[in-house]
Amino acid sequence: MQWNRSNAIGLAKESCSACHGYGLRLVHKGREVPCQCVLRAIFRACYNRFRDCATHAGQVGNVSLEFCRGKEGRRMYSRKREEFMADFILVSRRMLNSFEYDIFRFHFLLGADWRMCCRRLGIDRGTFFHSVYRIEHRLGRTFAELEPYSLYPIDEYFTGMNREPRRPLLRELFDLHRKRPPVPLPLSA
Ligand SMILES: [Zn+2]
Repeated sequence: MQWNRSNAIGLAKESCSACHGYGLRLVHKGREVPCQCVLRAIFRACYNRFRDCATHAGQVGNVSLEFCRGKEGRRMYSRKREEFMADFILVSRRMLNSFEYDIFRFHFLLGADWRMCCRRLGIDRGTFFHSVYRIEHRLGRTFAELEPYSLYPIDEYFTGMNREPRRPLLRELFDLHRKRPPVPLPLSA
């Protein structure tokens, strides 16, 4: 995504003290970068869609036919819902360090609140929320800037027709979790 006023202003928080609702803020040498409120909004939009997809995980999603870019101009079948979920997790795994990914898994994927995460990871409340904000900013930016196909805008992800053929994501996700099995959270205090 090329950042400009048009695409940032719609995502900005009106009461934001950093960008005052414009979505971009000035940094060194007059360069404009997306404000953190915009990056958080992008992360939240992708996370909400991920949760929506996960809610319907038991149902078999529709198969869609996609036209691939390139000299071959092939067409291929894809499962958008499952691909989006796999992309969301795999991209996050690549972008976060081990500590941040633990917070991401516990809080965003397994739904643990800040008390459970702090107890499990041995951190205080301030560290937890600072880490969550950092995760949201980094992933929000990554989801929007990812090349060659980004997760955001979400409607383009689900309807986009200019894709390259890709290796099976679900296989990659399976390999990731086989190497790193999910740690169950304690159910009670
Ligand atoms: Zn802002």
